[in-house]
Amino acid sequence: MNSFNFDVITLFPKAFELINNLGVITRALNKNLIDVNLYDLREYGEGSHRQVDDKPYGGGAGMVLKPEPVYKAHESIRKSSKSKTLLMTPQGKVLKQKDLIGWSSLDQIIIICGQYEGFDERIRVLADEEISIGDYVLSGGEIPAITIINGLTRLLPGTLGDPDSLLDESHNSSLLEYPHYTRPLIFKEMKVPDVLVSGNHEEIKSWRDKESFDRTLKRRDDLIFSENYHKSNKYNQKEYTFSKNIKQNMNFFNEVYPDW
Ligand code: SAH
Repeated sequence: MNSFNFDVITLFPKAFELINNLGVITRALNKNLIDVNLYDLREYGEGSHRQVDDKPYGGGAGMVLKPEPVYKAHESIRKSSKSKTLLMTPQGKVLKQKDLIGWSSLDQIIIICGQYEGFDERIRVLADEEISIGDYVLSGGEIPAITIINGLTRLLPGTLGDPDSLLDESHNSSLLEYPHYTRPLIFKEMKVPDVLVSGNHEEIKSWRDKESFDRTLKRRDDLIFSENYHKSNKYNQKEYTFSKNIKQNMNFFNEVYPDW
């Protein structure tokens, strides 16, 4: 079987040493399920100083990555027919589990990491997708890139000891996962729910489904009101209508009593 290739263009290749110490991800690397190739942007820099950045036209704070080194690095990468280039930027589409699942059927992801104030606008042309890992700003694209490598690798067959652990996970079905317990049965006076030691698999399943739903409603009701949930397999008409009514009532209440 061929490995899944991650080709990363970065000014800080050392940041990726982290993946040599990341449990299942490191195991995937050792089993050749993935291959991580780093392209040190400095080596593609210009002139004797290997310049990779410059001041922004029009003035302003910070330095901007120049287009030529990034293009040169990108051109030097051999692309497979099932390859995508992702550009790390806080202005991109916010990463979702479904993106990782979609990309896992490719065999190559090229990741471009920005640095400093950002990158020359013409670098965007290289990207099939622009990805943000959340609505905050980091100093560089390396941690976002590692996030993608990590999240995608654990989806690849052979990475996790038990592939079933991927099935019920948070965000797979737009619901958060149900609570987990392990031994001991009682810890600091907190007891494992009886149903989990009942041995009744049907009851355990319906308890888990309910916990999963209640937990999502409490913590992330945006997931329940999203289109995805509506379409997902776990869609439960009664609960959905019920929670939608709560939301509508709340909206109505807020409209009538805006200062309450
Ligand atoms: N001035 C830029 C931010 C630059 S941050 C702006 O306002 O858009 C420097 C680099 O870090 C970015 O080019 C990007 O590659 C990376 N980065 C920072 N935050 C990120 C995020 N939330 N998601 C993905 N990449 C991010």
